[in-house]
Amino acid sequence: MKFDLDAVFVEDGCANSALATRVLRALPHGVPVTHVDDAREVSRPEPGAPDPFGAGKRRLVIARRKTPFLMPCPAGSSKFACCGYLVLTLASNCPMDCSYCFLQEYLADNPAFQVYANYTDSFDELDKLTANAHGRSFRVGTGELADSLAFDSITAISRDLVEFFATRENLTLELKTKTDEIENLLDIDPRGRVLVSWSLSPDAVYRSSEHLTAAPAARIAAARALLDAGYRVAFHFDPLIAYAEAERDYLQLIDELFDVVPPKQISFVSMGGIRMTPRLRNAARSRFPDDRMLCGEDVLASDGRFRTFTPLRLSLYRALAERFRKAGAEIPAYLCMEPASVHEHVFGTVPARPATIGERLARG
Ligand code: SF4
Repeated sequence: MKFDLDAVFVEDGCANSALATRVLRALPHGVPVTHVDDAREVSRPEPGAPDPFGAGKRRLVIARRKTPFLMPCPAGSSKFACCGYLVLTLASNCPMDCSYCFLQEYLADNPAFQVYANYTDSFDELDKLTANAHGRSFRVGTGELADSLAFDSITAISRDLVEFFATRENLTLELKTKTDEIENLLDIDPRGRVLVSWSLSPDAVYRSSEHLTAAPAARIAAARALLDAGYRVAFHFDPLIAYAEAERDYLQLIDELFDVVPPKQISFVSMGGIRMTPRLRNAARSRFPDDRMLCGEDVLASDGRFRTFTPLRLSLYRALAERFRKAGAEIPAYLCMEPASVHEHVFGTVPARPATIGERLARG
C-alpha cells in the first residue's frame, strides 16, 4: 500500500460487500478497523485535530452511497466554455495532498476518505443514461471528488469499471490520476473505451505543492505503459501556475512528455489556470504556509475566484497551445473553467458547445 492509513471504518450493511472484503484483506497489519452504524459520524472533521482535513485523508470509510453516483461536473457553469464531462462519484477525498486542491474547501465539513461499497449500482445509472440518449456518446470520469487510482491497489475498483465500460459502445471512462497505480489495469482489454489521464506539472510545482503524488516522470512512464496495454491517454496541464520560470519549465515538461508519448497518441490535453475562492485560498495558505506557488500575482475575478493576472495567464496558455500546435499532430485541446473569450484569445476560435466537445472527446 502506497499511502498511510490511521484507521478504517466500515458502515453497517457494508461488511460483507466485495469492496470491504478486498480492502480488509489487503490492509497492512496494525490498522484498526471499526464497525459503525452511520458513516456520517466518522466522516466529519476530527474535533481538536491540528489539521482536521489532513487527518480525514488518513481515515478510510467504507459506506453505502445514498444519493446518485452520476452528476454533471461540479466545475461546470454557464459562465465557462465547458467540456461536457460527467462525473461518477465512487469515492470522496484523496490520500495525496496538493496544496492547491479544491477539495480542501469542497470537503471541509466531510473530509474522511470515503469509498462507496455499492459502487456497482452506478452501472444501472449509466445504462439508463445511454438508453435515454440514443446515439449520443458520453465521457464519464471518476477523478473529480477523488483521484481515480489512488488506493486502487487495495480497492481494485478500476477492474470492475474497465470491464463494464469495455462493453458499452456509447460510454468512455476517464480515470484521472496523479499516481502510477496502474497494475490492476495492465491485464484487462479496455477495447478502446477507457482513457487514463494525468495532471502534469513541472518538477518545481510537484516538489513544492503536490505532496505524496508520483513524480511527473513516473506519471509519464505509467502513461506509456497503459498506452502499450491498449488504453487511450490524455493530459491535464491544470492548474497552470505562472511562477517566474513557468513558461520554460512547462515547455520542457511537454518536450519530456513527447519524448515518451508521441503527440499523435495523445487523445487530448486540457489547460486551466490556478483558481481559488477566498475560502480555499485561506485554507490552502494556512495548511501550506511555505508554498511559494500559492503566492502568485492573482486578482479576484468576476466569478469570485482569485485567478492569475489575465495577461500572465493568457501568455502561458498561448505558449503551451503553440507548443501543442507545433507538435506535428493535431491534439484536441480545451480550457477548464475559463470563459469563451479566453478560449478565443488562446485558440483563435469560438469554443464548441459542451455537449459537442464531450462527444468529440468521448469518441476520440
Ligand atoms: S491528487 Fe488531485 S484530488 Fe488528490 S490532493 Fe491532489 S489535486 Fe486533490
